[in-house]
Amino acid sequence: MAKLLRINTKTKDISFEELSGKLNLLGGRALTSRLIRKEVPPTCHPLGKDNKLIVATGLLSGTPLANSGRISVGGKSPLTGGIKEANAGGTFSQKMAKLGIRGIVLEDKPEEKSTRVIYLDKDGVKIEDMPELAGLGTYATAEKLFAKYGKKVGILVIGPAGEDLRLGASIQFTDPKGRPARAAGRGGLGAVMGSKGIKAIVVNDEGAPGTEIVDKETFKAAAKRWAEILTNHAVTGQGLPSFGTSILINIINEAGALPTKNFRFGRFDKAQEVSGEKMVEIINKRGGVAKEGCHPGCIIQCSQSYVDEKGEYITSGFEYETVWALGPNTLIDNLDHLAQLDRLCDDLGLDTIEMGNTIAVAMEAGLIPWGDGQAAIDLLKKVYDSKDYLGKIIANGATFTGEALGVERVPVVKRQSLPAYDPRAVKGVGVTYATSPMGADHTAGYAVCQNILKVGGDINPLGKEGNVEVSKNLQIATAAIDSTGFCLFVAFAVLDTEDALETIAKLISAKVGQNITVDDIVNLGISVLKDEYSFNQDAGFTKAQDQLPDFFINEPLPPHNTVWDFSIEELQQAKVL
Ligand code: SF4
Repeated sequence: MAKLLRINTKTKDISFEELSGKLNLLGGRALTSRLIRKEVPPTCHPLGKDNKLIVATGLLSGTPLANSGRISVGGKSPLTGGIKEANAGGTFSQKMAKLGIRGIVLEDKPEEKSTRVIYLDKDGVKIEDMPELAGLGTYATAEKLFAKYGKKVGILVIGPAGEDLRLGASIQFTDPKGRPARAAGRGGLGAVMGSKGIKAIVVNDEGAPGTEIVDKETFKAAAKRWAEILTNHAVTGQGLPSFGTSILINIINEAGALPTKNFRFGRFDKAQEVSGEKMVEIINKRGGVAKEGCHPGCIIQCSQSYVDEKGEYITSGFEYETVWALGPNTLIDNLDHLAQLDRLCDDLGLDTIEMGNTIAVAMEAGLIPWGDGQAAIDLLKKVYDSKDYLGKIIANGATFTGEALGVERVPVVKRQSLPAYDPRAVKGVGVTYATSPMGADHTAGYAVCQNILKVGGDINPLGKEGNVEVSKNLQIATAAIDSTGFCLFVAFAVLDTEDALETIAKLISAKVGQNITVDDIVNLGISVLKDEYSFNQDAGFTKAQDQLPDFFINEPLPPHNTVWDFSIEELQQAKVL
Protein backbone atom coordinates (compact mmCIF):
# COMPACT_ATOMS: atom_id res chain seq x y z
CA MET A 1 0.00 0.00 0.00
CA ALA A 2 1.36 3.43 -0.92
CA LYS A 3 2.35 5.83 1.85
CA LEU A 4 1.88 9.45 2.72
CA LEU A 5 4.89 11.20 4.24
CA ARG A 6 4.12 14.09 6.56
CA ILE A 7 6.83 16.53 7.58
CA ASN A 8 6.26 19.26 10.13
CA THR A 9 8.56 22.05 8.97
CA LYS A 10 8.52 23.73 12.38
CA THR A 11 9.27 20.77 14.65
CA LYS A 12 10.92 18.59 11.96
CA ASP A 13 8.67 15.71 13.07
CA ILE A 14 8.32 13.06 10.39
CA SER A 15 5.61 10.45 10.08
CA PHE A 16 4.44 7.93 7.51
CA GLU A 17 0.86 6.81 7.13
CA GLU A 18 -0.61 4.21 4.82
CA LEU A 19 -3.06 5.40 2.20
CA SER A 20 -5.91 3.08 2.94
CA GLY A 21 -9.43 2.73 1.55
CA LYS A 22 -10.48 5.29 -1.05
CA LEU A 23 -7.35 7.39 -0.52
CA ASN A 24 -5.25 4.55 -1.96
CA LEU A 25 -7.06 5.05 -5.28
CA LEU A 26 -6.08 8.71 -5.44
CA GLY A 27 -2.93 10.08 -7.01
CA GLY A 28 -1.70 13.37 -8.44
CA ARG A 29 -4.28 16.15 -8.48
CA ALA A 30 -7.00 13.98 -6.93
CA LEU A 31 -4.80 13.43 -3.88
CA THR A 32 -3.53 17.01 -3.56
CA SER A 33 -7.00 18.51 -3.92
CA ARG A 34 -8.64 16.00 -1.56
CA LEU A 35 -6.05 16.61 1.17
CA ILE A 36 -6.21 20.38 0.76
CA ARG A 37 -10.00 20.29 0.94
CA LYS A 38 -9.89 18.16 4.10
CA GLU A 39 -6.94 19.71 5.90
CA VAL A 40 -6.35 23.32 4.84
CA PRO A 41 -8.68 26.05 6.18
CA PRO A 42 -9.88 27.81 2.99
CA THR A 43 -9.52 31.28 4.51
CA CYS A 44 -5.99 30.74 5.84
CA HIS A 45 -3.10 32.89 4.66
CA PRO A 46 -1.38 30.96 1.84
CA LEU A 47 2.04 31.73 3.31
CA GLY A 48 1.02 31.01 6.88
CA LYS A 49 1.39 27.93 9.05
CA ASP A 50 -2.03 26.51 8.21
CA ASN A 51 -1.42 26.11 4.50
CA LYS A 52 0.15 22.85 3.35
CA LEU A 53 2.28 22.04 0.35
CA ILE A 54 1.48 18.63 -1.07
CA VAL A 55 3.57 16.78 -3.64
CA ALA A 56 1.86 13.75 -5.15
CA THR A 57 2.86 11.21 -7.77
CA GLY A 58 0.27 10.02 -10.23
CA LEU A 59 -1.51 6.76 -9.48
CA LEU A 60 0.38 5.07 -12.33
CA SER A 61 3.77 6.76 -11.77
CA GLY A 62 6.76 4.57 -11.07
CA THR A 63 5.55 1.88 -13.47
CA PRO A 64 7.14 1.32 -16.91
CA LEU A 65 4.01 2.76 -18.56
CA ALA A 66 4.62 5.33 -21.31
CA ASN A 67 4.27 9.00 -20.31
CA SER A 68 3.15 8.28 -16.75
CA GLY A 69 5.85 10.13 -14.81
CA ARG A 70 4.25 13.51 -14.17
CA ILE A 71 3.92 14.96 -10.68
CA SER A 72 1.37 17.23 -9.03
CA VAL A 73 2.02 19.93 -6.47
CA GLY A 74 -0.89 21.43 -4.56
CA GLY A 75 -1.71 23.98 -1.90
CA LYS A 76 -3.67 27.16 -1.39
CA SER A 77 -2.30 29.53 -4.02
CA PRO A 78 -0.80 32.82 -2.88
CA LEU A 79 -1.43 34.17 -6.38
CA THR A 80 -5.12 33.34 -6.77
CA GLY A 81 -6.16 32.81 -3.15
CA GLY A 82 -7.85 29.59 -4.26
CA ILE A 83 -6.93 25.94 -4.51
CA LYS A 84 -4.05 25.08 -6.81
CA GLU A 85 -2.59 22.08 -8.54
CA ALA A 86 0.47 22.58 -10.73
CA ASN A 87 1.84 19.72 -12.77
CA ALA A 88 5.39 18.99 -13.92
CA GLY A 89 7.65 16.47 -15.60
CA GLY A 90 11.14 15.46 -14.50
CA THR A 91 12.50 12.35 -12.83
CA PHE A 92 11.18 13.04 -9.33
CA SER A 93 7.76 11.39 -9.60
CA GLN A 94 8.95 7.97 -10.70
CA LYS A 95 11.73 7.87 -8.11
CA MET A 96 9.36 8.91 -5.34
CA ALA A 97 6.78 6.32 -6.43
CA LYS A 98 9.45 3.60 -6.48
CA LEU A 99 10.11 4.37 -2.80
CA GLY A 100 6.44 3.56 -2.20
CA ILE A 101 5.60 7.19 -1.37
CA ARG A 102 2.48 8.59 -3.11
CA GLY A 103 2.41 11.93 -1.33
CA ILE A 104 4.58 14.30 0.69
CA VAL A 105 2.80 16.83 2.91
CA LEU A 106 4.77 19.81 4.21
CA GLU A 107 3.00 21.27 7.22
CA ASP A 108 3.36 24.28 9.55
CA LYS A 109 6.29 26.69 9.11
CA PRO A 110 9.54 27.39 10.93
CA GLU A 111 9.73 30.30 13.35
CA GLU A 112 12.78 31.74 11.59
CA LYS A 113 13.71 31.96 7.93
CA SER A 114 15.40 28.67 7.08
CA THR A 115 17.07 27.00 4.12
CA ARG A 116 16.59 23.27 4.47
CA VAL A 117 16.87 20.24 2.25
CA ILE A 118 14.79 17.08 2.68
CA TYR A 119 16.48 13.87 1.55
CA LEU A 120 14.49 10.67 0.92
CA ASP A 121 15.84 7.22 0.22
CA LYS A 122 14.98 3.60 0.99
CA ASP A 123 16.25 4.00 4.55
CA GLY A 124 14.09 6.97 5.46
CA VAL A 125 14.03 10.76 5.59
CA LYS A 126 16.59 13.36 6.66
CA ILE A 127 16.16 17.11 7.01
CA GLU A 128 19.34 19.15 6.78
CA ASP A 129 19.98 22.85 7.29
CA MET A 130 21.95 24.09 4.27
CA PRO A 131 22.25 27.89 4.63
CA GLU A 132 24.91 27.87 1.91
CA LEU A 133 22.10 27.35 -0.64
CA ALA A 134 20.21 30.51 0.37
CA GLY A 135 19.60 32.84 -2.57
CA LEU A 136 21.09 30.48 -5.15
CA GLY A 137 19.46 29.88 -8.50
CA THR A 138 17.98 26.47 -9.15
CA TYR A 139 20.80 25.46 -11.53
CA ALA A 140 23.56 26.19 -8.99
CA THR A 141 21.52 24.54 -6.24
CA ALA A 142 20.96 21.39 -8.29
CA GLU A 143 24.67 21.20 -9.09
CA LYS A 144 25.57 21.33 -5.39
CA LEU A 145 22.94 18.75 -4.49
CA PHE A 146 24.07 16.35 -7.23
CA ALA A 147 27.64 16.74 -5.94
CA LYS A 148 26.50 15.89 -2.41
CA TYR A 149 23.97 13.13 -3.07
CA GLY A 150 25.14 11.65 -6.38
CA LYS A 151 24.14 12.15 -10.00
CA LYS A 152 21.22 9.71 -9.97
CA VAL A 153 18.93 11.52 -7.55
CA GLY A 154 15.85 13.50 -8.56
CA ILE A 155 15.49 17.04 -7.25
CA LEU A 156 12.60 19.40 -6.59
CA VAL A 157 13.88 22.91 -5.91
CA ILE A 158 12.87 26.54 -5.57
CA GLY A 159 14.86 29.56 -6.66
CA PRO A 160 15.31 33.01 -5.13
CA ALA A 161 11.73 33.95 -6.08
CA GLY A 162 10.30 31.16 -3.93
CA GLU A 163 12.62 31.90 -1.03
CA ASP A 164 11.57 35.56 -1.18
CA LEU A 165 7.87 34.51 -1.19
CA ARG A 166 7.05 36.03 -4.58
CA LEU A 167 3.60 35.29 -5.97
CA GLY A 168 4.91 34.14 -9.36
CA ALA A 169 7.30 31.57 -7.88
CA SER A 170 7.46 28.11 -9.41
CA ILE A 171 8.80 24.79 -8.18
CA GLN A 172 11.39 23.29 -10.54
CA PHE A 173 12.17 19.61 -11.13
CA THR A 174 15.32 18.13 -12.61
CA ASP A 175 15.06 16.32 -15.93
CA PRO A 176 16.95 13.14 -16.95
CA LYS A 177 20.03 15.27 -17.70
CA GLY A 178 19.92 16.89 -14.27
CA ARG A 179 18.66 20.31 -15.39
CA PRO A 180 15.97 21.98 -13.23
CA ALA A 181 14.05 22.92 -16.36
CA ARG A 182 10.69 21.28 -15.63
CA ALA A 183 8.29 23.51 -13.76
CA ALA A 184 5.22 23.22 -11.60
CA GLY A 185 4.85 26.80 -12.60
CA ARG A 186 1.44 28.15 -11.92
CA GLY A 187 -0.05 29.81 -8.89
CA GLY A 188 3.02 30.74 -6.83
CA LEU A 189 3.46 27.40 -5.06
CA GLY A 190 7.21 28.06 -4.92
CA ALA A 191 6.41 30.76 -2.38
CA VAL A 192 4.45 28.27 -0.25
CA MET A 193 7.53 26.04 -0.23
CA GLY A 194 9.71 29.05 0.61
CA SER A 195 7.42 29.94 3.50
CA LYS A 196 8.14 26.50 4.95
CA GLY A 197 11.91 27.03 4.75
CA ILE A 198 12.42 24.15 2.33
CA LYS A 199 14.84 24.91 -0.50
CA ALA A 200 14.80 21.45 -2.06
CA ILE A 201 13.67 17.86 -1.75
CA VAL A 202 16.06 15.19 -3.01
CA VAL A 203 14.88 11.68 -3.79
CA ASN A 204 17.16 8.68 -4.23
CA ASP A 205 15.48 5.48 -5.45
CA GLU A 206 18.58 3.29 -5.36
CA GLY A 207 17.59 -0.08 -3.88
CA ALA A 208 13.95 1.04 -3.66
CA PRO A 209 11.27 -1.65 -3.52
CA GLY A 210 9.54 -0.36 -6.68
CA THR A 211 5.91 0.37 -7.36
CA GLU A 212 3.39 -2.35 -6.68
CA ILE A 213 1.39 -3.67 -9.66
CA VAL A 214 -1.19 -6.22 -8.53
CA ASP A 215 -1.95 -7.89 -11.89
CA LYS A 216 1.32 -7.67 -13.80
CA GLU A 217 0.27 -9.64 -16.91
CA THR A 218 -2.86 -7.58 -17.59
CA PHE A 219 -0.90 -4.41 -16.91
CA LYS A 220 1.80 -5.40 -19.37
CA ALA A 221 -0.69 -6.13 -22.16
CA ALA A 222 -2.60 -2.88 -21.57
CA ALA A 223 0.68 -0.92 -21.42
CA LYS A 224 1.61 -2.29 -24.84
CA ARG A 225 -1.72 -1.14 -26.28
CA TRP A 226 -1.26 2.24 -24.56
CA ALA A 227 2.09 2.77 -26.29
CA GLU A 228 0.48 1.91 -29.64
CA ILE A 229 -2.30 4.44 -29.04
CA LEU A 230 0.24 7.21 -28.45
CA THR A 231 2.51 6.22 -31.32
CA ASN A 232 -0.29 5.86 -33.87
CA HIS A 233 -1.81 9.32 -33.39
CA ALA A 234 -0.65 12.11 -35.70
CA VAL A 235 -0.09 14.65 -32.90
CA THR A 236 1.57 12.42 -30.28
CA GLY A 237 3.30 10.17 -32.83
CA GLN A 238 4.52 12.80 -35.29
CA GLY A 239 3.71 16.49 -34.67
CA LEU A 240 4.98 16.89 -31.10
CA PRO A 241 8.05 14.65 -31.54
CA SER A 242 9.09 16.54 -34.70
CA PHE A 243 8.76 20.17 -33.62
CA GLY A 244 7.86 20.18 -29.93
CA THR A 245 4.92 22.15 -28.59
CA SER A 246 6.09 25.24 -30.48
CA ILE A 247 4.64 23.65 -33.59
CA LEU A 248 1.57 25.51 -32.32
CA ILE A 249 3.03 28.98 -32.98
CA ASN A 250 2.28 28.87 -36.71
CA ILE A 251 -0.97 26.94 -36.24
CA ILE A 252 -2.45 29.32 -33.66
CA ASN A 253 -1.14 32.34 -35.56
CA GLU A 254 -2.83 31.08 -38.72
CA ALA A 255 -6.05 30.64 -36.72
CA GLY A 256 -5.85 34.31 -35.71
CA ALA A 257 -5.66 33.40 -32.02
CA LEU A 258 -1.99 34.03 -31.12
CA PRO A 259 -2.18 36.79 -28.49
CA THR A 260 0.10 39.57 -29.66
CA LYS A 261 1.20 42.77 -27.88
CA ASN A 262 -0.64 42.04 -24.65
CA PHE A 263 -3.71 40.51 -26.36
CA ARG A 264 -4.24 43.30 -28.93
CA PHE A 265 -3.99 41.19 -32.08
CA GLY A 266 -4.52 37.55 -33.03
CA ARG A 267 -1.59 37.40 -35.42
CA PHE A 268 2.11 38.21 -35.01
CA ASP A 269 3.91 39.19 -38.21
CA LYS A 270 7.17 37.67 -36.91
CA ALA A 271 5.59 34.37 -35.82
CA GLN A 272 7.80 32.40 -38.18
CA GLU A 273 10.90 33.69 -36.34
CA VAL A 274 9.82 32.07 -33.08
CA SER A 275 8.08 29.00 -34.50
CA GLY A 276 8.78 25.37 -33.67
CA GLU A 277 10.10 24.89 -37.19
CA LYS A 278 12.61 27.73 -36.69
CA MET A 279 13.59 26.41 -33.26
CA VAL A 280 14.37 22.96 -34.65
CA GLU A 281 16.34 24.50 -37.53
CA ILE A 282 18.49 26.51 -35.08
CA ILE A 283 18.99 23.58 -32.72
CA ASN A 284 20.06 21.25 -35.53
CA LYS A 285 22.41 23.84 -37.03
CA ARG A 286 24.10 24.50 -33.68
CA GLY A 287 24.32 20.90 -32.49
CA GLY A 288 21.66 20.93 -29.77
CA VAL A 289 19.06 18.22 -29.25
CA ALA A 290 15.72 18.78 -30.99
CA LYS A 291 13.80 15.92 -29.39
CA GLU A 292 13.97 14.53 -25.88
CA GLY A 293 11.72 13.46 -23.02
CA CYS A 294 11.27 15.24 -19.70
CA HIS A 295 11.21 11.91 -17.89
CA PRO A 296 12.26 8.34 -18.67
CA GLY A 297 9.46 6.50 -20.42
CA CYS A 298 8.17 9.48 -22.39
CA ILE A 299 7.67 8.26 -25.95
CA ILE A 300 6.31 11.56 -27.29
CA GLN A 301 9.44 13.57 -26.43
CA CYS A 302 8.32 17.14 -27.04
CA SER A 303 11.27 18.68 -25.16
CA GLN A 304 14.68 19.77 -26.43
CA SER A 305 18.10 21.19 -25.53
CA TYR A 306 18.37 24.70 -26.97
CA VAL A 307 21.97 25.86 -27.38
CA ASP A 308 23.74 29.11 -28.24
CA GLU A 309 25.89 29.80 -31.29
CA LYS A 310 28.85 28.05 -29.66
CA GLY A 311 26.74 24.96 -28.99
CA GLU A 312 26.55 25.71 -25.24
CA TYR A 313 23.35 24.70 -23.48
CA ILE A 314 20.93 27.53 -22.64
CA THR A 315 17.62 25.93 -21.77
CA SER A 316 15.24 23.01 -22.07
CA GLY A 317 11.49 22.61 -21.68
CA PHE A 318 11.32 25.62 -23.99
CA GLU A 319 7.60 25.21 -24.62
CA TYR A 320 5.01 26.91 -26.80
CA GLU A 321 3.44 28.68 -23.82
CA THR A 322 6.83 30.05 -22.76
CA VAL A 323 7.83 31.13 -26.25
CA TRP A 324 4.46 32.83 -26.74
CA ALA A 325 4.30 34.56 -23.33
CA LEU A 326 7.80 35.98 -23.56
CA GLY A 327 7.70 36.42 -27.36
CA PRO A 328 4.64 37.40 -29.44
CA ASN A 329 2.92 38.75 -26.35
CA THR A 330 5.79 41.21 -25.78
CA LEU A 331 6.77 41.54 -29.48
CA ILE A 332 10.19 39.98 -28.77
CA ASP A 333 11.03 38.01 -31.91
CA ASN A 334 14.52 36.70 -31.18
CA LEU A 335 14.59 33.05 -30.09
CA ASP A 336 17.97 33.46 -28.38
CA HIS A 337 16.56 36.22 -26.19
CA LEU A 338 13.52 34.07 -25.45
CA ALA A 339 15.76 31.12 -24.53
CA GLN A 340 17.69 33.33 -22.12
CA LEU A 341 14.45 34.57 -20.57
CA ASP A 342 13.24 30.99 -20.18
CA ARG A 343 16.53 30.02 -18.53
CA LEU A 344 16.26 33.01 -16.19
CA CYS A 345 12.72 32.04 -15.20
CA ASP A 346 13.80 28.45 -14.50
CA ASP A 347 16.83 29.59 -12.53
CA LEU A 348 14.96 32.21 -10.50
CA GLY A 349 12.09 29.77 -10.06
CA LEU A 350 9.38 31.79 -11.81
CA ASP A 351 6.37 30.78 -13.90
CA THR A 352 7.10 31.65 -17.54
CA ILE A 353 3.45 32.32 -18.45
CA GLU A 354 3.08 34.69 -15.50
CA MET A 355 6.38 36.42 -16.29
CA GLY A 356 5.62 36.85 -20.00
CA ASN A 357 2.36 38.56 -19.14
CA THR A 358 4.10 40.60 -16.44
CA ILE A 359 6.76 41.83 -18.85
CA ALA A 360 3.99 42.80 -21.29
CA VAL A 361 2.28 44.76 -18.49
CA ALA A 362 5.62 46.46 -17.72
CA MET A 363 5.91 47.37 -21.41
CA GLU A 364 2.33 48.63 -21.30
CA ALA A 365 3.41 50.96 -18.48
CA GLY A 366 6.37 52.20 -20.54
CA LEU A 367 8.92 50.67 -18.17
CA ILE A 368 10.78 49.03 -21.07
CA PRO A 369 10.13 49.23 -24.84
CA TRP A 370 7.94 46.71 -26.66
CA GLY A 371 9.98 44.04 -28.40
CA ASP A 372 13.22 44.80 -26.54
CA GLY A 373 14.57 41.38 -25.54
CA GLN A 374 17.69 42.66 -23.80
CA ALA A 375 15.66 45.11 -21.71
CA ALA A 376 13.35 42.25 -20.66
CA ILE A 377 16.38 40.14 -19.66
CA ASP A 378 17.81 43.02 -17.61
CA LEU A 379 14.44 43.58 -15.94
CA LEU A 380 14.06 39.92 -14.97
CA LYS A 381 17.60 39.77 -13.55
CA LYS A 382 16.52 42.28 -10.91
CA VAL A 383 14.65 39.44 -9.20
CA TYR A 384 18.01 37.96 -8.08
CA ASP A 385 18.46 40.97 -5.80
CA SER A 386 15.97 40.45 -2.98
CA LYS A 387 16.26 44.14 -2.04
CA ASP A 388 15.41 45.49 -5.50
CA TYR A 389 11.87 46.85 -5.38
CA LEU A 390 11.27 46.57 -9.11
CA GLY A 391 12.39 42.95 -8.95
CA LYS A 392 10.00 42.34 -6.05
CA ILE A 393 7.10 43.82 -8.04
CA ILE A 394 7.83 41.90 -11.25
CA ALA A 395 8.18 38.56 -9.46
CA ASN A 396 4.74 38.99 -7.95
CA GLY A 397 3.14 38.59 -11.37
CA ALA A 398 0.96 40.52 -13.78
CA THR A 399 -1.90 41.52 -11.46
CA PHE A 400 0.42 42.93 -8.80
CA THR A 401 2.61 44.63 -11.40
CA GLY A 402 -0.44 46.15 -13.07
CA GLU A 403 -1.63 47.49 -9.73
CA ALA A 404 1.82 48.84 -8.85
CA LEU A 405 2.33 50.52 -12.23
CA GLY A 406 -1.24 51.72 -12.82
CA VAL A 407 -2.00 49.50 -15.83
CA GLU A 408 -5.62 48.63 -16.55
CA ARG A 409 -4.97 46.15 -19.37
CA VAL A 410 -4.00 43.06 -17.36
CA PRO A 411 -5.09 39.71 -18.84
CA VAL A 412 -5.86 37.60 -15.76
CA VAL A 413 -8.63 35.49 -14.27
CA LYS A 414 -8.60 35.10 -10.49
CA ARG A 415 -5.34 37.09 -10.56
CA GLN A 416 -3.57 34.44 -12.69
CA SER A 417 -2.27 35.32 -16.17
CA LEU A 418 -3.90 34.01 -19.32
CA PRO A 419 -2.06 31.42 -21.42
CA ALA A 420 -1.33 31.41 -25.15
CA TYR A 421 -4.74 31.37 -26.84
CA ASP A 422 -6.84 34.48 -27.19
CA PRO A 423 -10.24 33.59 -25.72
CA ARG A 424 -12.06 35.73 -28.30
CA ALA A 425 -10.79 33.43 -31.06
CA VAL A 426 -10.70 30.11 -29.14
CA LYS A 427 -13.86 30.41 -27.11
CA GLY A 428 -13.85 26.89 -25.70
CA VAL A 429 -10.57 27.51 -23.93
CA GLY A 430 -11.87 30.93 -22.88
CA VAL A 431 -14.66 29.15 -21.00
CA THR A 432 -11.98 27.11 -19.25
CA TYR A 433 -9.98 30.23 -18.33
CA ALA A 434 -13.09 31.81 -16.84
CA THR A 435 -14.42 28.85 -14.89
CA SER A 436 -11.52 26.62 -13.86
CA PRO A 437 -10.99 26.59 -10.09
CA MET A 438 -7.31 27.17 -10.90
CA GLY A 439 -7.74 30.61 -12.48
CA ALA A 440 -6.77 31.12 -16.12
CA ASP A 441 -5.28 27.77 -17.08
CA HIS A 442 -5.34 26.22 -20.55
CA THR A 443 -4.37 22.78 -19.26
CA ALA A 444 -7.52 22.58 -17.13
CA GLY A 445 -9.72 22.04 -20.20
CA TYR A 446 -7.84 22.26 -23.49
CA ALA A 447 -10.63 23.01 -25.95
CA VAL A 448 -7.98 24.10 -28.47
CA CYS A 449 -8.31 20.43 -29.52
CA GLN A 450 -11.89 20.78 -30.76
CA ASN A 451 -11.73 24.49 -31.65
CA ILE A 452 -8.55 24.59 -33.71
CA LEU A 453 -6.87 21.20 -34.03
CA LYS A 454 -10.11 19.32 -34.74
CA VAL A 455 -9.07 16.51 -32.45
CA GLY A 456 -11.94 14.83 -30.60
CA GLY A 457 -14.57 16.97 -32.35
CA ASP A 458 -15.09 20.11 -34.43
CA ILE A 459 -16.52 23.16 -32.67
CA ASN A 460 -16.49 26.67 -34.12
CA PRO A 461 -13.86 28.60 -32.11
CA LEU A 462 -15.48 31.97 -32.88
CA GLY A 463 -19.06 31.12 -31.92
CA LYS A 464 -20.71 30.20 -28.64
CA GLU A 465 -22.43 26.96 -29.56
CA GLY A 466 -20.96 23.87 -27.94
CA ASN A 467 -18.10 25.66 -26.22
CA VAL A 468 -19.46 25.62 -22.67
CA GLU A 469 -20.25 21.93 -22.91
CA VAL A 470 -16.89 20.96 -24.40
CA SER A 471 -15.00 22.92 -21.75
CA LYS A 472 -17.01 21.26 -18.98
CA ASN A 473 -16.35 17.75 -20.33
CA LEU A 474 -12.67 18.48 -20.83
CA GLN A 475 -12.32 19.91 -17.32
CA ILE A 476 -13.73 16.65 -15.93
CA ALA A 477 -11.48 14.48 -18.12
CA THR A 478 -8.42 16.58 -17.33
CA ALA A 479 -8.97 16.40 -13.59
CA ALA A 480 -8.93 12.61 -13.97
CA ILE A 481 -5.86 12.51 -16.24
CA ASP A 482 -3.98 14.83 -13.86
CA SER A 483 -4.54 12.21 -11.18
CA THR A 484 -2.94 9.33 -13.08
CA GLY A 485 0.52 10.80 -13.68
CA PHE A 486 -0.03 10.90 -17.43
CA CYS A 487 1.35 13.84 -19.36
CA LEU A 488 -1.61 15.89 -20.54
CA PHE A 489 -0.51 15.54 -24.16
CA VAL A 490 -1.80 11.97 -24.12
CA ALA A 491 -5.23 13.62 -24.37
CA PHE A 492 -4.76 14.18 -28.11
CA ALA A 493 -4.60 10.43 -28.69
CA VAL A 494 -7.20 9.61 -26.03
CA LEU A 495 -9.80 11.91 -27.60
CA ASP A 496 -9.40 10.29 -31.01
CA THR A 497 -8.99 6.61 -30.09
CA GLU A 498 -12.01 4.49 -29.33
CA ASP A 499 -10.48 2.12 -26.80
CA ALA A 500 -8.18 4.64 -25.07
CA LEU A 501 -10.32 5.22 -21.98
CA GLU A 502 -10.98 1.49 -21.69
CA THR A 503 -7.23 0.94 -21.81
CA ILE A 504 -6.65 3.47 -19.02
CA ALA A 505 -9.35 1.76 -16.94
CA LYS A 506 -7.61 -1.60 -17.49
CA LEU A 507 -4.26 -0.14 -16.47
CA ILE A 508 -5.61 1.33 -13.25
CA SER A 509 -7.54 -1.86 -12.46
CA ALA A 510 -4.44 -4.00 -12.93
CA LYS A 511 -2.31 -1.60 -10.90
CA VAL A 512 -4.60 -1.45 -7.85
CA GLY A 513 -6.26 -4.89 -8.10
CA GLN A 514 -9.82 -3.54 -8.26
CA ASN A 515 -12.27 -3.28 -11.12
CA ILE A 516 -12.14 0.36 -12.25
CA THR A 517 -14.49 1.34 -15.09
CA VAL A 518 -14.54 4.29 -17.47
CA ASP A 519 -17.45 5.67 -15.43
CA ASP A 520 -15.28 5.48 -12.32
CA ILE A 521 -12.65 7.58 -14.10
CA VAL A 522 -15.24 10.19 -15.09
CA ASN A 523 -16.61 10.24 -11.54
CA LEU A 524 -13.09 10.73 -10.22
CA GLY A 525 -12.73 13.84 -12.39
CA ILE A 526 -16.07 15.16 -11.11
CA SER A 527 -15.15 14.56 -7.48
CA VAL A 528 -11.81 16.37 -7.92
CA LEU A 529 -13.56 19.42 -9.34
CA LYS A 530 -16.14 19.35 -6.55
CA ASP A 531 -13.36 19.39 -3.95
CA GLU A 532 -11.78 22.35 -5.73
CA TYR A 533 -14.93 24.41 -6.29
CA SER A 534 -16.09 23.91 -2.72
CA PHE A 535 -12.68 24.96 -1.36
CA ASN A 536 -12.77 28.12 -3.45
CA GLN A 537 -16.32 28.89 -2.40
CA ASP A 538 -15.35 28.64 1.26
CA ALA A 539 -12.29 30.78 0.54
CA GLY A 540 -14.66 33.54 -0.55
CA PHE A 541 -14.89 33.11 -4.32
CA THR A 542 -18.21 33.87 -6.00
CA LYS A 543 -19.37 33.50 -9.59
CA ALA A 544 -18.39 37.14 -10.15
CA GLN A 545 -14.78 35.94 -10.42
CA ASP A 546 -15.71 33.51 -13.23
CA GLN A 547 -15.30 36.07 -15.97
CA LEU A 548 -12.62 37.54 -18.24
CA PRO A 549 -11.37 41.14 -17.93
CA ASP A 550 -13.49 43.86 -19.54
CA PHE A 551 -11.26 44.50 -22.53
CA PHE A 552 -11.99 41.04 -23.93
CA ILE A 553 -15.70 41.92 -23.85
CA ASN A 554 -15.34 45.44 -25.26
CA GLU A 555 -12.52 45.15 -27.78
CA PRO A 556 -12.82 43.12 -31.04
CA LEU A 557 -9.76 40.97 -31.79
CA PRO A 558 -8.29 41.24 -35.29
CA PRO A 559 -8.32 39.48 -37.72
CA HIS A 560 -11.72 37.92 -36.90
CA ASN A 561 -12.96 40.93 -34.94
CA THR A 562 -14.80 38.77 -32.43
CA VAL A 563 -15.39 39.69 -28.79
CA TRP A 564 -15.87 37.64 -25.63
CA ASP A 565 -19.64 37.31 -25.31
CA PHE A 566 -20.43 34.80 -22.56
CA SER A 567 -22.40 36.01 -19.56
CA ILE A 568 -21.46 34.89 -16.07
CA GLU A 569 -24.70 32.89 -15.91
CA GLU A 570 -23.88 31.05 -19.15
CA LEU A 571 -20.41 30.28 -17.83
CA GLN A 572 -21.79 28.69 -14.66
CA GLN A 573 -23.02 25.82 -16.86
CA ALA A 574 -19.39 24.78 -17.39
CA LYS A 575 -18.92 24.09 -13.69
CA VAL A 576 -19.53 20.81 -11.92
CA LEU A 577 -21.56 22.06 -8.97
S1 SF4 B 1 5.40 14.76 -24.11
FE1 SF4 B 1 6.65 16.47 -23.46
S2 SF4 B 1 5.71 17.24 -21.54
FE2 SF4 B 1 4.86 15.20 -21.98
S3 SF4 B 1 6.12 13.80 -20.79
FE3 SF4 B 1 7.04 13.93 -22.85
S4 SF4 B 1 8.57 15.57 -22.81
FE4 SF4 B 1 7.28 15.73 -20.96
